[in-house]
Amino acid sequence: MTYPLHCSCRLTLPQHATYMEKIRSRLESFRATVELQNETEFRLSWTFGWLSISRCDDQITVEGGATDATGLARIKDLLATAFKLYAKIDEPQIIWTGDHAHDQELAPFRLMEVEKVSDLSARIKRVRLHGSDLNRFEEFGNMHVRLLLPCSSVPDPIWPVAGPDGLTDWPDPARKPVSRVYTVRAIDTDASWVDIDVVTHGDSGAGSAWALSAKPGDQVGMFGPLGRPINRNAQHYIIGADETGLPALARLLEILPETATGLACIEVATQADVQPIENRTKINVEWLFRRDAPAGTSLALADRLIAEPWRNDLDCFGWFAAEDVAARRLRTHWRQNLGLTRDQTLAAAYWRRGVTGLMAG
Ligand SMILES: Cc1cc2nc3c(=O)[nH]c(=O)nc-3n(C[C@H](O)[C@H](O)[C@H](O)COP(=O)(O)OP(=O)(O)OC[C@H]3O[C@@H](n4cnc5c(N)ncnc54)[C@H](O)[C@@H]3O)c2cc1C
Repeated sequence: MTYPLHCSCRLTLPQHATYMEKIRSRLESFRATVELQNETEFRLSWTFGWLSISRCDDQITVEGGATDATGLARIKDLLATAFKLYAKIDEPQIIWTGDHAHDQELAPFRLMEVEKVSDLSARIKRVRLHGSDLNRFEEFGNMHVRLLLPCSSVPDPIWPVAGPDGLTDWPDPARKPVSRVYTVRAIDTDASWVDIDVVTHGDSGAGSAWALSAKPGDQVGMFGPLGRPINRNAQHYIIGADETGLPALARLLEILPETATGLACIEVATQADVQPIENRTKINVEWLFRRDAPAGTSLALADRLIAEPWRNDLDCFGWFAAEDVAARRLRTHWRQNLGLTRDQTLAAAYWRRGVTGLMAG
């Protein structure tokens, strides 16, 4: 593989010892190949590029290379996000040099237009968004995006650009759109569209209100992809979701191996919320109805997964996406009671009752 594009930056990080391992582990978790790892240096590679971090005392040198501009932007994004998350204590000022160093075009951002809106089930709207150059949204193995939505207080947002670190910069913070995370339910890069299935729960949330009033021609920003790739090579899966995790769960049933066995349990309000799912695996799909209980108040879904035996005789993977309390209950069971690791399970809070714009947990 040749990597014609190059980037680098230098940082002074006196407290690197307290967080560098977290940075390395985060970067590696994006399906990286470890090319080199010793006391003072590590180098990781992907199909689209590579990066290395080397250290001399508190001086850190970051180098990266990529096959094309999209890959280079991805390398910068992975690196800068990891430092932003874990190296706060040293306030790193990442300023890239090398190819595309002064580009203001924000690679993960696309301005999209609503093409059509349909009712998928009683509470879910399917919004098809049209845009250009969407390859990156299926290239990196992640399923989610951040929609940047106009709202009543900012009906005409100013869209983001890339700052010197390659991450998002807002030219006019007062005209920043509202941001909500959604799953790309389906994508067709040739026809240049993505489908997003939005749970509607009234006008109180900006995402829900946007979906309820969305019409062809409306503009919306899309940023991503986000999220971590999951283990697609396990033999047995125990997975569960409420309506917010249903788009991701449905996508998983389309991409997991045909031989995969296990349980996929989905919580919805009533029979009217059931939707057809193309299940190409041997995983059994169960629907669970919470009936009159408000969304996010029932623990029946988490308990159903807890009751499902974990198969130690098989390569088994657990995945869950729903309201925060349910996600925490299942995560505690998997991680603390069963002693399973991060590589074996992912139980994520996709929303939290009473909290606006939860990003993930
Ligand atoms: C990785 C990831 C992927 C996601 N994918 C999807 C997806 O594909 N489709 C989808 O619909 N959601 C998805 N979500 C969840 C979505 O981001 C949240 O539900 C978000 O809070 C919705 O924003 P909002 O503006 O409608 O409501 P907010 O402004 O965030 O919240 C307003 C109020 O509504 C409540 N609320 C939020 N969501 C719901 C809900 N679903 N039901 C009932 N009450 C709610 C909040 O608790 C709060 O009280 C995903 C979240 C993550 C982290």
